[in-house]
Amino acid sequence: MAFPHVKTYHQAAILTSLLAHLTIKGQPQWVRMENQAIALLRVSNLMWLRKTIRPTTTTMPSQLSLALNIWDQYRSHFESQCPLSLATPTEALTYCIPTFHATPWKERGATHLAHLYKEGKLLPFLDLRRLYNIPPTSHYSHIQLQSFLHKHNREQAQKRDGGEELTTWEKIGITGIPSPKFKPLSECYKSIHSYQPFHSSTQAQHWSTDLNVNITEHKWKHIATSVRKLVKSAPLLEQHQKTIYRWYMVPTRLHRLYPHSPPTCWRCAGDLGSVLHIWWRCPKLERYWKEVRQLITQTTKTDIALEPSTFLLLDIPPDLPATIKKLIYHILLTAQRVIARSWKSTRPPSVSHIIQDVDKQLIYETQYSAAHTRPQRWGGAWELWSSWTQKTTGHLVQQHH
Ligand SMILES: [Zn+2]
Repeated sequence: MAFPHVKTYHQAAILTSLLAHLTIKGQPQWVRMENQAIALLRVSNLMWLRKTIRPTTTTMPSQLSLALNIWDQYRSHFESQCPLSLATPTEALTYCIPTFHATPWKERGATHLAHLYKEGKLLPFLDLRRLYNIPPTSHYSHIQLQSFLHKHNREQAQKRDGGEELTTWEKIGITGIPSPKFKPLSECYKSIHSYQPFHSSTQAQHWSTDLNVNITEHKWKHIATSVRKLVKSAPLLEQHQKTIYRWYMVPTRLHRLYPHSPPTCWRCAGDLGSVLHIWWRCPKLERYWKEVRQLITQTTKTDIALEPSTFLLLDIPPDLPATIKKLIYHILLTAQRVIARSWKSTRPPSVSHIIQDVDKQLIYETQYSAAHTRPQRWGGAWELWSSWTQKTTGHLVQQHH
């Protein structure tokens, strides 16, 4: 493992102490002490309620309120659904629904919201009666619950993508029992560290607006990470990051910083030089991108959509074979690199440069795997490429010059 991020590690350690409240067996001493300090409330109930509906108490130990603060900050890493996780104990609802009677539900096994839900929906009272033998007198609390959920959950229900599944932490919250090999601190660290909250990704929002497509959290994660599995070249990975995170100083951005600098495109001098224009819309790029697509069709026998989300964000169909994807990634990232390399040049970029560069990458990867006497992973990508270059002997290059 790489050297841990100290602040994250510290926060993970504090969160681990909070999450100890979720297990029922072998609870550490502080769990009982903290629960005693907050009298009638229980930490395992409090934590699942969002700050806005969580009851407060003056007797809360400072260590505990610090832990809850950190929890609130990272809770989206631990929950599969918000604003009310399915791991919320039925008992916790008594804190936020006045006169809610949780006991009949709890006693009959409906201890958590997960027990009352099916396929993301609250089950009708009759079904719950059948399932848990809930007494008819509890019908009123079902109505209370329904209207509460309607107000707090349904209106802004926001499932994390692929969030059908409960998280490890929610499962522990519901069963009270972690798997025997479970290491709370390192799991906690991983949960905080690996997951970037989607809302911080303003770049994803900018791309959504620019491309007029809805880039979901799931899609953005896919865009940001899938390339790394198949591309090993550092300059290409850097190119990918710079493109998706909109690192480049395009004319409109420069103009905002320095009003003297013209906001128009330096290539065509006609339109505003926005990110999308400089990378995609500029009329001087039209032929280039068409040729790039042609190169992909010829080498991989695969047609991909001539769309900026494909060519700039590398959002290609995920079910394509890895060898094909690998070659497409290399060609597209090199195509972007060729544009970046002749930044501010008024001449349109040339596909021949892409071919030269991809050739170099092929040679490098082949030499690398030979030197390490390792079979080349997804070497089929390079076979496709070299069989094409041998056949055409640089046909496209000549055509262009
Ligand atoms: Zn232009």
